[in-house]
Amino acid sequence: MEARYSGIDGYVGNTPLIRLRRLSELTGCEILGKAEFMNPGGSVKDRAAYGIITDAEKAGRLTPGATIVEGTAGNTGIGLTVIGRARGYRTLIVIPNNQSPEKMHLLRTLGAEVKAVPEKPYKDPENYNHIARRLAEERDWFWANQFDNTANRDAHYRGTGPEIWKETGGVITAFVAAVGTGGTLAGVSTYLKEQNPNIQIICADPYGAAMWSWFTNGNLETNDGDSIAEGIGQGRVTKNVENIKVDRAYRIPDQTGLTIVYQLLRQEGLFLGLSTGINVAGAVRFAMESGPGQTIVTVLCDSGQKYQSTLFNRDWLASNHLDPDLPLESVLGLV
Ligand code: PMP
Repeated sequence: MEARYSGIDGYVGNTPLIRLRRLSELTGCEILGKAEFMNPGGSVKDRAAYGIITDAEKAGRLTPGATIVEGTAGNTGIGLTVIGRARGYRTLIVIPNNQSPEKMHLLRTLGAEVKAVPEKPYKDPENYNHIARRLAEERDWFWANQFDNTANRDAHYRGTGPEIWKETGGVITAFVAAVGTGGTLAGVSTYLKEQNPNIQIICADPYGAAMWSWFTNGNLETNDGDSIAEGIGQGRVTKNVENIKVDRAYRIPDQTGLTIVYQLLRQEGLFLGLSTGINVAGAVRFAMESGPGQTIVTVLCDSGQKYQSTLFNRDWLASNHLDPDLPLESVLGLV
């Protein structure tokens, strides 16, 4: 038997599919979470980072010692830095300054150069993505461009989708994901629909984002509230999201997502962030609308450790009008 070993960059993906026991029992469905927080850099974005780096290497756009530049809410930067270190690249990360201090600290500790910039809408030239693109152009560095580089969704088409199909033995009936770049939703949904077009694809959107309007009404209206969720909440149709088939979209209030985050912590031993709460809330809503017997898969995007000072800080929650102690039944409308 031949032994085969790999560095850390060889261990992106093949994450466990975890049964969310209490929510499964409550709904009579199998509600399953893909444990993306177990990737080497701690989030679902390791897959995009791995895919983008590998694709650029193949195309000859990344050579040893190169610098990767990216505008990111944090997790893609962490993934690019971890995989970049393993492959011999430097990273320059441009991040909006309203992201959690833990993520900025972690990025710096991992060795990224971090440029924190004021939060601006995409149409503003000072938006973090445009700053990243300009810096890469000026210095002739590689811009990862996660929003419009479809190597992102391809990583999910080749990895996450087939893993879920195999792990569920093909009995999956629905897949739920929120959209940041849309790489996860697009790549997984495209693969699953090719296997069985009846699999329902659901977008769980936070308030203040445009994906609910896009998939429901075909417009990009967002003038209806806001969200404190990091890493999700898209206002435009990225290249990754273009032309995908989504059957249903939900808007999930932050409070619902947060109540799920605390339920998963207290009853499942799973310590996760708010985008996961929104994903799982979407899965539960779909289960309640569709009735028992479904096998519903969603994504456990990243760990709660990155949000100790926000989601797990009672003062911070109170100042954002969020309550960690609301009973599950009240937010799900079960009572
Ligand atoms: N959750 C978190 C915590 C994220 O950082 C991201 C990526 N920005 C997502 C969800 C959404 O993933 P995607 O970019 O594939 O839509």
